[in-house]
Amino acid sequence: MTAHFPHTETPSAALAGVSLSYPRGDAVLRGLDWTLLPGQVVGLLGRNGAGKTTLLETLLGLRQPQAGQVQLFGQDVMQLDDAARARIGYVPQSSDLFEAFTPAQLLAYFRSFYPRWNEAKVEGLLSRWDIARDKPIRKLSGGQQQRLSIIRALAHEPDLLVLDEPVASLDPVGRRDFLRELVDQVLDRGTTVVFSTHILSDLERVAFNLAFLSEGRIALQAPLDELLEQVRAFTGSVTELAGLFARLGAQPLKRTPLEAGRERVLARLPAGVSAPLDAQAVNLEDLFAELT
Ligand code: ADP
Repeated sequence: MTAHFPHTETPSAALAGVSLSYPRGDAVLRGLDWTLLPGQVVGLLGRNGAGKTTLLETLLGLRQPQAGQVQLFGQDVMQLDDAARARIGYVPQSSDLFEAFTPAQLLAYFRSFYPRWNEAKVEGLLSRWDIARDKPIRKLSGGQQQRLSIIRALAHEPDLLVLDEPVASLDPVGRRDFLRELVDQVLDRGTTVVFSTHILSDLERVAFNLAFLSEGRIALQAPLDELLEQVRAFTGSVTELAGLFARLGAQPLKRTPLEAGRERVLARLPAGVSAPLDAQAVNLEDLFAELT
């Protein structure tokens, strides 16, 4: 038996009731709650335009929401002290990488900002990811620039690493292996990692936790294997299903009305509760299609 203790660790990131709209736009984040615990590797899934970039920018304090609270390492994100700031690594979707610099110059420049900097790791990754140290950055391929931006974010050994579509400019082949390698770089340090993607296949064997962003909220977050074990699709009359869910303690995630009085409901069962035989198993593709 494993004992379960309540989590007392300070979350790496905690968002509560966060709402954000752009001027003359619809609300992108709508009362969103989200917690990232130390050491979690989370894939943030959502369709194009769902608000992934907006959410990550808000989490980092780069955008101020109209409502709600954002804390990093237990501090208000808008008032982070320097020590907390130095614990964050961020790889934006498109980085402005000082194109006239060489990678060596760029990294030397950033090194001056951080009390901690792992030169051996930087050198190792430049070689491994095949990035010329002394070629102007504008002459590197999109994929190489993205890798350089990732090396820059890893060099100061952040405790929270945020990557916005980090493999967007890489070939479909090899994207997942690259992500796997990226996560391996930080796994032993217990770094909290969150990266966004709209491509489900990027996440296999990479993210242990999936978070689905839909309609301005995190619709669901759980370890991948738990999701596959605990989420089922149920079909039946509205009253039948309500009774069944109450009995099982199931949490409905998505309802689709069928003909009058009947519906199909995607629901999550509590851990350890076995699914009724007539409930349908769902795969990751179904979850993605239905929850995002
Ligand atoms: P995702 O990263 O999931 O593709 P975004 O966060 O980029 O989603 O965008 C979410 C929504 O907000 C989209 O409808 C987009 O058009 C809108 N949006 C994003 N940035 C801005 C901005 N600076 N001003 C106005 N609307 C924006």
